[in-house]
Amino acid sequence: MAAVHRPTSAAPAHVADLDHAATTRVRPEVLAAMAPFLEDRYGNPSGSHRLARDAVRAVDEARERVAAALGCAPGEVVFTSGGTESDNHAVTGGMPPRPGVPVCSAVEHHAVLDPVEALGGRTVAVDATGRVDLDALGVVLDEVGDGVSVVSVMLANNETGVINDLAAVAAVVSSYEPEVPRVPLHTDAVQAAAWLDLAVAAAPADLVSVSGHKLGGPKGIGALVVRQHTSIRPLVLGGGQERGRRSGTLNVAGIVGLAAALEATVEQRSATNDRVVALRDRLADGLVAAVSGTVETAVRGGDRSAMLPGICHLCIEDVDAETLLFLLESEGVMASAASSCSSGAQQSSHVLAAMGVPEQMARGSLRLSLGWDSTEADVEAALRAVPAAVARVREFS
Ligand code: PLP
Repeated sequence: MAAVHRPTSAAPAHVADLDHAATTRVRPEVLAAMAPFLEDRYGNPSGSHRLARDAVRAVDEARERVAAALGCAPGEVVFTSGGTESDNHAVTGGMPPRPGVPVCSAVEHHAVLDPVEALGGRTVAVDATGRVDLDALGVVLDEVGDGVSVVSVMLANNETGVINDLAAVAAVVSSYEPEVPRVPLHTDAVQAAAWLDLAVAAAPADLVSVSGHKLGGPKGIGALVVRQHTSIRPLVLGGGQERGRRSGTLNVAGIVGLAAALEATVEQRSATNDRVVALRDRLADGLVAAVSGTVETAVRGGDRSAMLPGICHLCIEDVDAETLLFLLESEGVMASAASSCSSGAQQSSHVLAAMGVPEQMARGSLRLSLGWDSTEADVEAALRAVPAAVARVREFS
């Protein structure tokens, strides 16, 4: 790393954001929808006067729009501070936690993995493509026996973009315990929500997590869908908002923003997905052809049909990801490797390890992720910058 110096040329004119899986720009219609609730319509919905009633109406209306986008009833939507809180709530079951042992796949986001670990839970292996191994899930459920408190399997992975078949997961869970109430199935749909119709894809789950900032909404707002038959205790205790399921003064502007972002995502989904799939294919095909020793992670025989449109994940031989990202940034290309930790440094990927990707390939992992506002120019910039940066890293190492 020390031998590779940042180029001294002027900053590149075009900044290519290829890190949309980390976060996205707020859509203009979302900003416009939120603004009144940060200006004159700033009431607290817990009050009883005119300002408060105006805020209640806005939240009620947003809840209906969120429910329509997610394919659930308005009463099943609990607004949260984002994906992490939704995941923690679903896995723990609230406070005190559900009795028993939570079970999740080995490639979950840390917002699921860490509460599962804190509660002494079990993880289930994935196959080489990163999908949860259904036989292994059955074995773990048998081993834990009556004590399973929740099963959590993400709809799509944040590093690789791999999509799980939730209906197949739900079939295993209900065969294990066919009676009602059965073990609840949770899905982290934080990445999937930008691309998939959750009304269909997440339908088999009892609990569904989403987050605003991954789909053109603001940060700090999300939702947990709690289907009617699913029992859950509150995780955040206090003023009893959200019908006692999640206390805390409602983030009215955020809630309105989440509704607008989900609605725009649903309305534009078909066109956005077609456009982004074409961009992603060009990016992936171009880089695999241009950079020797590059493997498209989790893609078998060029079939990307069970992957999110927005993620191109590569493992590049003889390259250190951190150095590569540093060089890419200096060329105006923002990307990532494994998920970033709070310091911004790259952690080694538990996802790639669980998939059995050899360490020397995982060291060179590169996630290029596109979103609703990605352009041809972003892809062109990456197609120019990545081969040149890989050549420089290899030259210096
Ligand atoms: N789950 C997944 C799959 C994610 O990608 C993320 C964010 O990176 C989260 C959960 C956490 O969401 P939030 O940033 O809204 O807390």
